[in-house]
Amino acid sequence: MIAGSFSSTARQIAIRVVRTGIQCVFYPYERCTDLVAGIDRRVTGWFAKTEYIRTGQCKMTGQCCKAIGIEFPAAWQKYPWLVRWLGRWHRLRYNFESVDQQRNLLVYQCNYLRTDNRCGIQKFKPRLCREFPEHPWRGRIRVHKGCGYQYVPRKTHEFKIKLHRSKNSLL
Ligand code: SF4
Repeated sequence: MIAGSFSSTARQIAIRVVRTGIQCVFYPYERCTDLVAGIDRRVTGWFAKTEYIRTGQCKMTGQCCKAIGIEFPAAWQKYPWLVRWLGRWHRLRYNFESVDQQRNLLVYQCNYLRTDNRCGIQKFKPRLCREFPEHPWRGRIRVHKGCGYQYVPRKTHEFKIKLHRSKNSLL
């Protein structure tokens, strides 16, 4: 019994060490690619506009860390071992705990989420979290009910701004 709990503790420690090692490699890499992606987005923004405007801010409901959906290619459903390995990778890389699988969507909750709904690794959280909710050029992504972010069609948003300005100029 004691030997069993000792080996499980040793396993947990080994996982933490490996996870920290992976983070030490991936974090600087992601930060560098963020810089390149940021420049690319800015330059592309001179010629194109996103279909939706993302407004609002985080309300700290913690929902996006309790039900994280990660899609994988639908064809992988034929290979359950591949999906299992993907789940193991997410656990090792992100400290995500599997809660469900719906077709080609894996659902996790994050073990870094604290009881006050704050991120336990805020300064070093992975890009996956830093970019959420994404702001794609076309379409919008689904956010959890009660989330502080909303996606407003650009035309509606611009119309509201014009209306607001004209109201202010009349005052
Ligand atoms: S790392 Fe932080 S932001 Fe990302 S899912 Fe976990 S608690 Fe949330």
